[in-house]
Amino acid sequence: MSDQDVFQDALTRISALGEDAGIMPDVVESLLHPVATLETTLPVRMDDGSMRYFRGLRCHYNDVLGPTKGGIRYHPQVTRAEVQALALWMTVKCAVLGLPFGGAKGGVVVQPKELSPMELERLSRAYMRSMADFIGPDTDIPAPDIYTNSMVMGWMADEYEAIKRVRAPAVITGKPIPLGGSQGREEATGRGAYLCIRELAARHDWQPGKTRVAIQGFGNAAYHVARLLQNDGYNIVAISDSKGGIYSTKGFNIESLWEEKQSSKKVRAVYCEQSVCQLVEHEEISNDELLALDVDLLIPAALEGVIGRHNCDSIQAKTIVEVANGPIRSEVEAGLEERGLTIVPDVLVNAGGVTVSYFEWVQNRSGYPWSLEKVREELETLMTAAFNETMHIAETEQRSLRNAAYVLALRRIGEAVKAHGTKE
Ligand code: GLU
Repeated sequence: MSDQDVFQDALTRISALGEDAGIMPDVVESLLHPVATLETTLPVRMDDGSMRYFRGLRCHYNDVLGPTKGGIRYHPQVTRAEVQALALWMTVKCAVLGLPFGGAKGGVVVQPKELSPMELERLSRAYMRSMADFIGPDTDIPAPDIYTNSMVMGWMADEYEAIKRVRAPAVITGKPIPLGGSQGREEATGRGAYLCIRELAARHDWQPGKTRVAIQGFGNAAYHVARLLQNDGYNIVAISDSKGGIYSTKGFNIESLWEEKQSSKKVRAVYCEQSVCQLVEHEEISNDELLALDVDLLIPAALEGVIGRHNCDSIQAKTIVEVANGPIRSEVEAGLEERGLTIVPDVLVNAGGVTVSYFEWVQNRSGYPWSLEKVREELETLMTAAFNETMHIAETEQRSLRNAAYVLALRRIGEAVKAHGTKE
């Protein structure tokens, strides 16, 4: 999908919705315009002594519900339009979960795999130096996203505190535990998605052992959702990374694949016991072939726009659970649903990450860390409530699940707009 398209696509969904859901036109209109997008240049000293200049981006999309919130992505294809689309989805996501946050997103145009750990640290600190006045615990709170992790968040939090000469752990979430990170943040996105699937399974009476699952992507979120599904007996028949995927009707052992992925940096069909790994029978497949597999549950968990006009006719799965942000282009969605496919939308499915980010922010502000049990319990409460509210709107108003989640979000944002008053 072209860069500009991804944001246009996100806006189309919002405009279409406003018209039929009785949302105040002012609210819909306000969601078509990001509050501010900052673009900066990040000078970074490379290990060989040379200087390189990277592009940094941060978009505050909408702050009606609270300080803006959203991750920072390191990826060579990051664009302004993509960051704006992702920031809009963060706005909707926080509202679906009822969190006191607006939406934001950040990014750096970089191939992080080409940088050494020291270069990555200097880049992350440079990002924070250029953005330090644009973010803050009460204004805009970043977090991890694709190819950023707790270590990157730790460097950024440390840099922010050095610049501002304060202790401010609540400025960023997804930090390492010793810097004020939360228990359970690492697994949160995957666990949230798993909780949605569990609710769905209960409603449809799915038998885990008879449910075949294909997962596109094998990052943090994909790993945890796969692991939790496997624990319940689901059969994970295919999984992939950016280089391609593997398929076997017998299914894979997720822990083994993850162990191997950590060491060899790619998805390999192995089974490991006490760190001795052996190859298992499988077929090598492309990412497009994975998306077209005849499975019960398809979980896109990588980048946006992977299901569009070019491949929508080949989709055979009965249910798509969007762990990635925006994996389905809006123009093919109605067609997929007419064919009887259930689509469980990103703004609900992957909201576990930002929900535990919210818990982390609360813990940082109160100075009182929670136990893992408490984090999991609260996550379950909020995810299940959002799932049920979305389902209720879908059933009582005959809407698709995405449509229902957006309606839930826009109604919440609308109420806040009203409560703020006219300010004129
Ligand atoms: N990057 C994650 C997302 O897309 C988490 C954001 C956050 O924790 O603020 O939802």
